[in-house]
Amino acid sequence: MKKSILHLVLDKALSTKRPHDTQQTRDFTLWLWDNLPAHLRDDAMVDLAGNLHVDSRTDINQATLFVAHVDTVHKTVGKNRIRKTRSHWFADGDVLGADDGAGVAMLMHLIHSGIPAYYIFTQGEEKGGIGAKHLTDDHAELLAQFDRAIAFDRRGIDSIITHQGWGRCCSDQFGSALCDAIGEIDFDLMHLNDDSGIYTDTAEFVDIIPECTNISIGYDKEHTQNESLNIVYFNRLAIACTEIRWDDLPVVRDPAIRESLAFDGFWQDDLDSNEFYNALLDARYGHHRPLVDLVSQYVHPDDPILMARHLNPYQVNLRTIDQMLDDIDSMVDTDIESHIYRLADDMYSHS
Ligand SMILES: [Zn+2]
Repeated sequence: MKKSILHLVLDKALSTKRPHDTQQTRDFTLWLWDNLPAHLRDDAMVDLAGNLHVDSRTDINQATLFVAHVDTVHKTVGKNRIRKTRSHWFADGDVLGADDGAGVAMLMHLIHSGIPAYYIFTQGEEKGGIGAKHLTDDHAELLAQFDRAIAFDRRGIDSIITHQGWGRCCSDQFGSALCDAIGEIDFDLMHLNDDSGIYTDTAEFVDIIPECTNISIGYDKEHTQNESLNIVYFNRLAIACTEIRWDDLPVVRDPAIRESLAFDGFWQDDLDSNEFYNALLDARYGHHRPLVDLVSQYVHPDDPILMARHLNPYQVNLRTIDQMLDDIDSMVDTDIESHIYRLADDMYSHS
């Protein structure tokens, strides 16, 4: 029996280690190009960052963008050995690379199923969204054509991501409509809006595209040798995703408005301006750790360690820090919370 494109791509992806900016990863990207349906192959293109673009839209009302990243966190290139059980897949002694090989396979499956949309296979997500940043920098007009950007790059089997980092990426209405749409097709797939997303490519698009999300694709413990893929969930989601009417999902969020993650205020009470002042002062003189820790704790108490990895303190302007120090010095009624969100915004790899 001929293997489905879904499993052909999944097998190929997971059996290949794909660190960013290696020949092996470039070859894998070209292999995807070669395996597109014949009628889409000629018009596909690779941009200057190495992202592979595939446009299967058939009319101008279609406004859905799907993205998945081709790179993995592997340290070396070469073959990856996969171990399969009936319910889960693993790698022997290394990262599995279902983050985001599973998403890549899902996109190829949607393309071959004739779902009209724009598809981008991105580079360097694991290096801070290199490919996605290139899209916002050099292809903003393209991104502006879309009402929604969908990534399949979330762990677990039940999340529709509504927030990444500390900010909203899609409306609750959009998230709930997507949960309902999947559930109506397959009663056993139960998703909920999840505001604890950290980072994926679609976080880069939130200033341009109204509804940006990330859907659980079934991997777990990504970035470790214990990474697994729930193949039962993955297969069922793949079937459901070909039946969703993506372009009918509601478009509610205004990308011009930044909305921070609502939080319960417990850190607000805990945080004294002294601690904040000292962290700012440390950062002023090149010791960034306390400020990064404080900001991560504040904006993402669920997983501050992971959050911290996405914060780059060198993106903060020294004048911003000086201004905040002045504010506290001059005893004006300082809004520490807004200062911290400002810093998070400057430091986040979405910039
Ligand atoms: Zn990923």
